[in-house]
Amino acid sequence: MPNTDCLFCKIVADDIPAIRVAEDERTLAFMDINPWTRGHALVIPKTHATDLYTIDPDDLSACALTAQRLAERARDNLGAQGVNLLNSCGSAAWQTVFHFHLHVIPRYLGDPLTVPITAQPGDIAEITAAAQELRA
Ligand code: AMP
Ligand code: ZN
Repeated sequence: MPNTDCLFCKIVADDIPAIRVAEDERTLAFMDINPWTRGHALVIPKTHATDLYTIDPDDLSACALTAQRLAERARDNLGAQGVNLLNSCGSAAWQTVFHFHLHVIPRYLGDPLTVPITAQPGDIAEITAAAQELRA
């Protein structure tokens, strides 16, 4: 069911405008209005789901396939040299719109995006402990 308070459900319903770039039975892709790079698009399921935890698995697969198609178009039509896919699940992970979406971010050599942390070698005991919890 559409969520009447949801911005992206309103885009699906055409109640608010979006610059659409791809559509199929399950998914819609449109341009992000605050692009990180040229061609930055969002892929969403047409059926409302808040986030990665709750999206229907078939919708998740369909979103991944649409993202792959857009990545190919970014490479072939925009001349992107790479692509980042990003999903933010939860406020702690920077999610600001609570309708699942995949960011498809074309990357260009020398573009201004940088990784927001400096990776450091981790403590092996702690990495192993986390792995044990993830396996449980
Ligand atoms: P996130 O912060 O991962 O939840 O991503 C939400 C994204 O939606 C941001 O990158 C916004 O720029 C984008 N956004 C918000 N409103 C709109 C809109 N009306 N049309 C297109 N993109 C939007
Ligand atoms: Zn929604």
